Amino acid sequence: MNTGAFPLVARDSGTTIVEIGGVEIGGPELVLIAGPCSVESEEQLRASARAARAAGATILRGGAFKPRTSPYTFQGLGEEGLALLRRIGDETGLPVVTEALEPGQIPLVAAYADAIQIGSRNMQAATLLRAAGASGRPVLLKRGMAATLEEFLLAAETIVLAGNERVVLCERGIRTFDSYTRNCLDVGGIAALKRLGRLPVIADPSHATGRRELVTDAALAAVAAGADGLIVETHPHPTSARSDADQQLSPAELTDLSERVRRVAAAVGRRTSAIER
Ligand code: PEP
Ligand code: MN
Repeated sequence: MNTGAFPLVARDSGTTIVEIGGVEIGGPELVLIAGPCSVESEEQLRASARAARAAGATILRGGAFKPRTSPYTFQGLGEEGLALLRRIGDETGLPVVTEALEPGQIPLVAAYADAIQIGSRNMQAATLLRAAGASGRPVLLKRGMAATLEEFLLAAETIVLAGNERVVLCERGIRTFDSYTRNCLDVGGIAALKRLGRLPVIADPSHATGRRELVTDAALAAVAAGADGLIVETHPHPTSARSDADQQLSPAELTDLSERVRRVAAAVGRRTSAIER
């Protein structure tokens, strides 16, 4: 690959640590981001955030504007969801990350959240990338489900070129011929992104597998491959979740993931002091 095509994010130009609300991603410590797929209610978000915190997560996730494959399914609570994220994040002491679907939503999302997520379906939406770049907020950029590593890095380059160095890459699984898992976690891609680029790389084992019973094993593989963090979906009652009910972890399952991740992290020389809380 010609890394000269993305000079601002290529490994040649050093390494970047991205700070989200005081939490550093890409440093020696492995970071756990957890929370529900969608913000559904104050009670549901509070229970998810407490579970996340108890398991050692240091950043809260949750969707307020949802990029659903079907227009007939739950589309998120919108601004009400953003306000809940801010309130529950402050209450639990966790910075929050949430998705913006279109450029016009960036100022609103930036007003409530500590970081802006750009979803898989929008990885190559150039105007959205540029708006996120101009927002001043750190950006969590998810890999398009059929994007090559080069396209992924070029999307990150677009954000950095717009004036924002604070980009975290997220491998969330890509489409293959197999349909047993929702996507295919590109473990080798995580290792490659760390070599090719200077940006932190995290993994999303929830969307990568789409199956609750596989999420922890996929998380362990990602950490062993050098991921700087994980973003994991958790819900107090996963089977009744309004989105992604098959892949969200219960609080107990999230705690188990965290404990097992800690051991693999130690084996690859990674600190997890936050996760050990
Ligand atoms: C999400 O993280 O809420 C999400 C929709 O993921 P992706 O964009 O990876 O499908
Ligand atoms: Mn989801």
